[in-house]
Amino acid sequence: MIWEENVRKVVPYVPGEQPDKPNVIKLNTNECPYPPAPGVQAALASMRSADMRLYPDPTAEVLVQGLADYYGVRKEQVFVGVGSDDVLSMAYLTFFNGEKPILFPDITYSFYDVWADLYRIPYVTCALNDDFHICPRDYMRPNGGVIFPNPNAPTGVYEPLEEVEKIVQANRDVVVIVDEAYIDFGGESALPLIQKYDNLLVVQTFSKSRAMAGLRIGFAVGDEKLIRYLSDVKFSFNSYTMNRPALELGIEALRDKVYFEETTGRIVATRERAKGELKALGFTFPDSRANFIFASHERIPARQIFQALRERDIYVRYWDKPRIDNFLRITVGTDEQMDTLLAFLKEYI
Ligand code: PMP
Repeated sequence: MIWEENVRKVVPYVPGEQPDKPNVIKLNTNECPYPPAPGVQAALASMRSADMRLYPDPTAEVLVQGLADYYGVRKEQVFVGVGSDDVLSMAYLTFFNGEKPILFPDITYSFYDVWADLYRIPYVTCALNDDFHICPRDYMRPNGGVIFPNPNAPTGVYEPLEEVEKIVQANRDVVVIVDEAYIDFGGESALPLIQKYDNLLVVQTFSKSRAMAGLRIGFAVGDEKLIRYLSDVKFSFNSYTMNRPALELGIEALRDKVYFEETTGRIVATRERAKGELKALGFTFPDSRANFIFASHERIPARQIFQALRERDIYVRYWDKPRIDNFLRITVGTDEQMDTLLAFLKEYI
């Protein structure tokens, strides 16, 4: 068809499976195995469908102010979106408009190259070293912007704040985005650095540590000017990104710090225990600081284990991609879920 010449052709990102079956052990999309804070359930119960008649607040004021208070910044330094995917996509559109390529790691969140292709942004990937660490020196060349997750996905490898700062400092003439989707599971956030660097945008999400992947809440914190530019693009794209339930329930999740610390602490404890048991079964993995473990077995190919697990309704993630095609990314579930996984692996191996 002639009209196809004018189609924007893209190869879309492929999210992990959401199997529609009962009793699946779902360790494939880094969701939280625990429910959101109890206050979220209470707020949901008191919600009235009649209120959905009205548009939500286009500025998402309650959530923006709540996040500003929580992180000790001004509300002008906070931007919210429909999951961090929406925030990151807006950030690409807003900040990555140079002629020079943007830079990100060769092994990383597989949405990064998809957005670059979608928006026609040139990019170059920088190889992680053999231990899957980022080499800050690779990011000290002319570029149109930088983005990387910390901890990285799907490796779980965390870069100390000094390394992050080196990259931000060396790139004062472009925007550097640090995607902290997994920071609450053991890393030190780059958030304090936003006071020092007006080119740093820190992005986080409610999908993992706050157990709200289904509501779609993400946010960015940065210099007021960065946030203003992001908001201009958002308001040129879709005024009402945050729906009413997301605004009301998001703020409830933020209110319960005790529950947040308890559940993230539990996930970290389960992760550390699982590391020991996987090691004993012959798995090796980079030291994860996220809510998943990126593991490779000494004898059995990852693809084979992936299939065997799937047949038992245990879902993990596998990518047939260079350098990582012998790894499984296993989300840390409850202790009980991990015990079922480990028992199966023990028998299988
Ligand atoms: N960044 C990274 C590194 C991720 O792994 C994910 C989860 N797929 C996201 C961002 C997006 O998460 P969400 O849109 O649910 O906030």
